[in-house]
Amino acid sequence: MSGNLTLSQKVWNAHIVHEEQGAPSLIYIDLHLVHEVTSPQAFQGLRDRGLKVRRPDLTIATTDHSIPTTDRSLPIIDPIAANQVAQLEKNCRDLGITHYGVHSSHQGIVHVIGPELGLTQPGMTVVCGDSHTATHGAVGALAFGIGTSEVENVLATQCLLQRPSKTFRVQVNGALKTGVTAKDIILALIAQIGIGGGTGCVLEYAGPAIRALDMEGRMTVCNMSIEAGARAGMIAPDDTTFQYLHGRHFAPKGADWDAAVTRWRKLPTDDGAKFDREVIINGDALEPMITWGTNPGMGVSINKPIPEPASVSDPLERESLTKALAYMGLEAGKPLAGHAVNVVFIGSCTNSRISDLRSAAEILKGRKVNPNVRVMVVPGSMEVKRQAEAEGLPEIFRAAGCDWREPGCSMCIAMNGDQLQPGQYSVSTSNRNFEGRQGKGGRTFLASPLTAAASAITGVVTDVRSLL
Ligand code: SF4
Repeated sequence: MSGNLTLSQKVWNAHIVHEEQGAPSLIYIDLHLVHEVTSPQAFQGLRDRGLKVRRPDLTIATTDHSIPTTDRSLPIIDPIAANQVAQLEKNCRDLGITHYGVHSSHQGIVHVIGPELGLTQPGMTVVCGDSHTATHGAVGALAFGIGTSEVENVLATQCLLQRPSKTFRVQVNGALKTGVTAKDIILALIAQIGIGGGTGCVLEYAGPAIRALDMEGRMTVCNMSIEAGARAGMIAPDDTTFQYLHGRHFAPKGADWDAAVTRWRKLPTDDGAKFDREVIINGDALEPMITWGTNPGMGVSINKPIPEPASVSDPLERESLTKALAYMGLEAGKPLAGHAVNVVFIGSCTNSRISDLRSAAEILKGRKVNPNVRVMVVPGSMEVKRQAEAEGLPEIFRAAGCDWREPGCSMCIAMNGDQLQPGQYSVSTSNRNFEGRQGKGGRTFLASPLTAAASAITGVVTDVRSLL
């Protein structure tokens, strides 16, 4: 690729190790993130072939999916989870990989700790055996999830066979209104283009409403790119990015920092670069969003009615809407606002960073959660937890009646015992509302931390603007 290039094309070009006409390219991987669920088979495969890890210094592991979010000094009761955690510890010890395990002060959700520690940097290629690796694209990295056999290949070679993706610019114009957040941008995009709308593409988010987001908001947007079917999501690095990264643990220091920033300033898409596809979203017109169905594309503005399946011409889509309504126990034609809620979950790699917790605390401060609602607040990392504690946020959450937990994936995926009971409804700040995602028979409404906090207080799905 040459001429005027997009951000993703520049990063791609800089990482080609070998390419051949008609075949996938071999690209170099700058950072490989590992967690306990998708790595055991890959490590075993490595052992079976008598191989070592090619670059243990570029491989970082953490434990996040299956660990309890309760007292860390207690043993893990679930034997499957305990085994996964122990296996990752052993594999990392044997193979010389840094591991932020259960008792580490850097432990956290893999997509929270990467940017937080400054491991993820502009212009890098980043992979992880996890779908939401796209999060790291917020700093201008080309970051994507890979399968278990690819994890093994990257461990063995630090390279990956890939075909280049198509380019897709999402231009978000205007400015967000009060009560509307990064989460609402990404839910609105997926509702507009559908869960397959970004298939085969790297999404590049641009425009004034994206530029105005802080880094954590940008991570929320990029995080859910996969839910639109995209390979990755990226945002061009700018002063907001550099300020965020400066001084972080693994960020370059001194003269190396200056050299890095000079290099990073060349990454944004060239004027005149062509995208394969483009959509424009009017940020001024966005409202708080909420999903009503069983995929993240089934979302609406909070006061708009749930769509009628009869209004959809495609028979397959009509059938999928009907099935989703039946699972969710909802009626089309009515808004979700006012619907009773059993659980509120504030957490996950989409919305568990300090700014997410601050915005939830702003709504909950001096108020009480509805007695019929169980509210869990789960920080994304030990660092987020420490910061929240320094700011007195847990006291606000506890005084309101919320449960303040230890960091981990928790009820995003319900692998650690934090889960919904069959039939329960949750307002969740996570990224997936598939059938049973938060527990067998559980029903999930995806929304922003503001909407989640507002719904916790009233006990029903609530437009946060009524409480501001
Ligand atoms: S928080 Fe949820 S989506 Fe994110 S890494 Fe954990 S399980 Fe995956």
